[in-house]
Amino acid sequence: MRQPLFKLKRLLQWYRRHRRDLPWRRTRDPYRIWVSEVMLQQTQAATVIPYYHRFLKCFPAVHALSRARPDRLMKLWEGLGYYARARNLHAAAKQIMTLHGGRIPRRPEVFSTLPGAGPYTTAAVLSIAFGAPMAAVDGNVKRVVARLYDIGRPILPNDKEITGIAQAVLEDGTDRQVTNAGDFNQAMMELGARICTPRRPACPRCPLRSDCRAFRAGTVLERPVSTPRAARPHLRVVAGVVKKNGRVLIGRRPDRGLLGGLWEFPGGKIEAGETPQQALRRELREELCVDTRVSPMAAAVRHAYTHFSVTLSGHLCIIRRGRLHPTVHSRLRWVKPAKLDSVAMPEANRKLLRELRLRNLI
Ligand code: SF4
Repeated sequence: MRQPLFKLKRLLQWYRRHRRDLPWRRTRDPYRIWVSEVMLQQTQAATVIPYYHRFLKCFPAVHALSRARPDRLMKLWEGLGYYARARNLHAAAKQIMTLHGGRIPRRPEVFSTLPGAGPYTTAAVLSIAFGAPMAAVDGNVKRVVARLYDIGRPILPNDKEITGIAQAVLEDGTDRQVTNAGDFNQAMMELGARICTPRRPACPRCPLRSDCRAFRAGTVLERPVSTPRAARPHLRVVAGVVKKNGRVLIGRRPDRGLLGGLWEFPGGKIEAGETPQQALRRELREELCVDTRVSPMAAAVRHAYTHFSVTLSGHLCIIRRGRLHPTVHSRLRWVKPAKLDSVAMPEANRKLLRELRLRNLI
């Protein structure tokens, strides 16, 4: 194990002077801290702030969240992505109400049994809310440590060496009463988010520059060592805007899996050799058990999710034969077009809806 070597006091002074005034830093309420930590996973603070406020206005405490309607929850989460986070929060709130008397568990071995509570979330929430001496190692912290210690190998998702270093520095700091765990973790994350950024680290302004091995060795931009990424797949997807009596048909995706629980226009992937219209007719037959007449493309949009990108083309459709019978969606609903704003939709569907409205097609 490499010895802790950087000057913790300097990091903490920098943090106290420069930290952003973020809403979740004004509270010690473990529920609010937990919500913020879940929202901040894979998401920047500036994006999270309005979601955080809206979410807490609707669900100000764990018992309110435990009683949330799933549709309402997903609507509040719409656009934030990684929807499993919202489903896990909901399930965890119910678990807290039934098993823990409505109180957020303070013990790591108990907190970590909540749905979605991995090592990072457990350490972050318990250190910030209760001062538990646990290093919280997210992507920012991994990058900072990999540079400070000039680690010349790819960093693993659950990297024991990095966690060990962060934990050793934290324990050294708490033993010497230089810091508490919450401040230490937030200072490390803040440094990674503001100074030691992935592409343009601001080393001249860094409080740890004199301790940084990568800075000394001139290897800053080579750390962390990157692993070759698989190319992001691109999907061609088609969606049907099925209208009847002034309403439009939407289906709810199954709770589990990609974009689970969100509402969308029915449709699916365009297979090799198919035109979008053929693909849509086939999808609607397979998904809804109906024969449809499909118009030429009405609008198309592109959207990049984290792990794939899509081109989504929308077509107006009329049901010619058959009675709606959902085989893919867990629920179908005919809604007035104006009501589409109040349901949670995947971002690509939302973009398509905007395009259709611009063309007065919906
Ligand atoms: S000196 Fe540069 S590379 Fe090293 S920790 Fe600071 S910002 Fe990161």
